[in-house]
Amino acid sequence: MSKVFLVTGGAGFIGSAVVRHLINDTDCQVVNVDKLTYAGNLMSLKSVESNDRYHFEQADICDKNKIAEIFTKYQPDVVMHLAAESHVDRSINGPSEFVQTNVVGTYTLLEVARAYWANLSDDKKSSFRFHHISTDEVYGDLHGTDDLFTETTPYAPSSPYSATKASSDHLVRAWLRTFGLPTIVTNCSNNYGPYHFPEKLIPLMILNALSGKNLPVYGDGKQIRDWLFVEDHARALVQVATKGEIGETYNIGGHNEKQNIEVVKTLCALLEELAPNKPEGVQYYAELITYVTDRPGHDVRYAIDASKIERELGWKPQETFESGLRKTVQWYLDNKDWWQAILNNSYRNYR
Ligand code: NAD
Repeated sequence: MSKVFLVTGGAGFIGSAVVRHLINDTDCQVVNVDKLTYAGNLMSLKSVESNDRYHFEQADICDKNKIAEIFTKYQPDVVMHLAAESHVDRSINGPSEFVQTNVVGTYTLLEVARAYWANLSDDKKSSFRFHHISTDEVYGDLHGTDDLFTETTPYAPSSPYSATKASSDHLVRAWLRTFGLPTIVTNCSNNYGPYHFPEKLIPLMILNALSGKNLPVYGDGKQIRDWLFVEDHARALVQVATKGEIGETYNIGGHNEKQNIEVVKTLCALLEELAPNKPEGVQYYAELITYVTDRPGHDVRYAIDASKIERELGWKPQETFESGLRKTVQWYLDNKDWWQAILNNSYRNYR
């Protein structure tokens, strides 16, 4: 019998990549549990929505009764927990939703999973996994140029977003240590790729450039992020959920450290090549770059040491930054319907 994967946040950017990968490349059943906040977009799942192995439940992970009903109905073998509030700027403007979903929601999901797991048969109980998906931002930032985040780097979150993700990681580890719930945690660097909500750096820059708007870069643009193509992340996550060791943490990264300004300039160069018909009055996309006041508490550098997952689970990213970014720009050029529905808000009516 094929396994049942319950994916929370499956209508989001990374969650939808995980759902598409599970449906397209495995024989498992997928239950997507998503509240459909502004970040949830069922249009990202159009290619799999009619598959018999795909199921969707609109639910808030903070709603204990509803989540318990979903566990009873589908009897999951694996939980992949991605649902979260994920945008750092929003966490600065309004931290409350972040505490609610990322902390209380994770706690609620853990409690439902624990009660469900305790009543499973011995076989199902020993193969059950709760995989919590987190971020490298829990480690704070790096100042030395050669330092890397490893699985044992102490936690030092800087923003309300990363502080709530750090809290959720601690809860997950405590539910293993105290109650024996078989959990695994992954911490990943910045993702990019198709279906990324246009408030995030890369899609924002692509769409602004295509419409001749400014390309706002925070501070001096020298902040360094380690970029990973989202489909590489999805492959890593499914490998961890199926082959990872209980109680372990795996860092996932792309070995692609880039300054934000370098990313924006590379995007401009790709657009020159792939979208040469520029908006009126624009001679070069790069002339749209403008520097804006830095974000408070902005971390300087993140960089991941992903050698453990490579060594122990044999995962490696398939895309380089150059190949992944080219695919991403081309995807936004080829999928205007997807992002125009976000810009005009009609994506929220898609069911
Ligand atoms: P996203 O914001 O695109 O998607 C989040 C999804 O969760 C949305 O579909 C939303 O509707 C859903 N959701 C939010 N609150 C919910 C609730 N209370 N109940 C049920 N569903 C809810 O996020 P993403 O970028 O896909 O990130 C997914 C996960 O990966 C997050 O946990 C994030 O912390 C982590 N992560 C993201 C990155 C990145 O670069 N985007 C990097 C590392 C880790």
